Amino acid sequence: METDRFQPVRFDSGGRGPYHARAMGNPLLQRRAPQELAASRELIEIKAKVSDFERLSETIAKDLRPPDRDGLPDDWRDSIVSGQLRFGFNAAQGDLPTASGQAAVTIAAVCQRCLQPFSLPLQAELKLVFGEGGGGDYEQWELDDDQLCPADLIDEALVMALPLAAMHDAESACKAMTVAEEKPGRMRTPFAGLKAQMGKEN
Ligand SMILES: [Zn+2]
Repeated sequence: METDRFQPVRFDSGGRGPYHARAMGNPLLQRRAPQELAASRELIEIKAKVSDFERLSETIAKDLRPPDRDGLPDDWRDSIVSGQLRFGFNAAQGDLPTASGQAAVTIAAVCQRCLQPFSLPLQAELKLVFGEGGGGDYEQWELDDDQLCPADLIDEALVMALPLAAMHDAESACKAMTVAEEKPGRMRTPFAGLKAQMGKEN
């Protein structure tokens, strides 16, 4: 067991969690061989900002936030991605190196139905195997070279977890749905007629 490594990472202390104190720096951003990560049973506690994940930042900016929409918080890139990633060898995966864990973040997005800002919770489960021959419920991760950056695994998983169209889950929360019920389009005509009539009398 490695329970001694499950230490809370404190943000109010300036972002210097226990793992930052190590001379090697932030393991989330270090490129290492999966065999090496697996051999040391590396457990990475994830506490990072959306801006630390390149593809996620780009995709959110492009798909979830229309650039001409005013009144949106600008600090969405500071939203905290939290989670855990554990490396090891898995006998069921031919003793290949694996990574498993989860990541979560809440993103300030824009509802594509009513164009109002809303909080979009994202969650991703990771079950990855490095090398030929793995399978089952583990997804094979293609390595560009013999090393990987753990942040890339999280980045990819969160991008894959993004909805095709971001919108309010509950119809009751969505302005587009409630407005459509309360104000049928036909109501416009009598009011327009009344206004025209009042205009004549004056
Ligand atoms: Zn909506």
